[in-house]
Amino acid sequence: MRTDVHAHTTYSDGSDLSAMIEAAEAAGVDGLGLTDHCILTADAFGRHETYDLDETYERRREHIDRARETTDLTLYDAAELSYVPEDSDRIAEFLTTADFDYTIGSVHFASGYDYTSDTQYVDSSDGVRREAVECYYDAVVELVETELFDVLGHLDLPERLETLRGHTRPSDYDRVAAALSDSRTVPELNAGRVNGSLGRLHPNPAMLSTFADRGVDFVLGTDSHRPDELRRRVPTLRDRVAQSQIDLLCIDALL
Ligand SMILES: [Zn+2]
Ligand SMILES: [Zn+2]
Repeated sequence: MRTDVHAHTTYSDGSDLSAMIEAAEAAGVDGLGLTDHCILTADAFGRHETYDLDETYERRREHIDRARETTDLTLYDAAELSYVPEDSDRIAEFLTTADFDYTIGSVHFASGYDYTSDTQYVDSSDGVRREAVECYYDAVVELVETELFDVLGHLDLPERLETLRGHTRPSDYDRVAAALSDSRTVPELNAGRVNGSLGRLHPNPAMLSTFADRGVDFVLGTDSHRPDELRRRVPTLRDRVAQSQIDLLCIDALL
């Protein structure tokens, strides 16, 4: 594993930049992607206020430039954009202006559904849960088809939630894989919950052959918000990749 393409700093909900760099050095990677959350849309969940990299990326860019003088790591000035279907024009415009090294596109919410918390689904029927999951994959396929992003983030995010876990079907993976095989966008193997309640990577390793069959390659991301997460997840990712049949792509190949 040469580069961790997915890490957060205090420019969103992560940790101090220098602490994340030290952790990446200790974990033995050569490159670190700084992918703070960026949510352009002011939504019912109030997330634009928390994730306002669109207003702070220039300041972060100067910070990254200074940090480059202190480390041998390749630091990528990147971002994790929340993809909202109705807002693709605004996102495209912002990405042209900001000109990041690369971008991860992630679906965190769509059509009034929130995929980052169980709260909304605790009392829901299986039918409603499945509907929420279906909306998620509709948005993911659309994200890929926009060709706006270099990387597709945590592609089966609903599996992270206890309430929605198991509602993703093989046909969902198949339509995401089909979209990816026709696109420049590359998915990540995401270790965001590999040591947590999910205990496995995104996407579900049991489904990796669906992607391999279509010739889809992956990049590797720890999705760390804290230095200890980064230190722990890099070796786990290395192990899991060694056990799997997947082909990895170096992020530099996308730039
Ligand atoms: Zn995310
Ligand atoms: Zn993330």
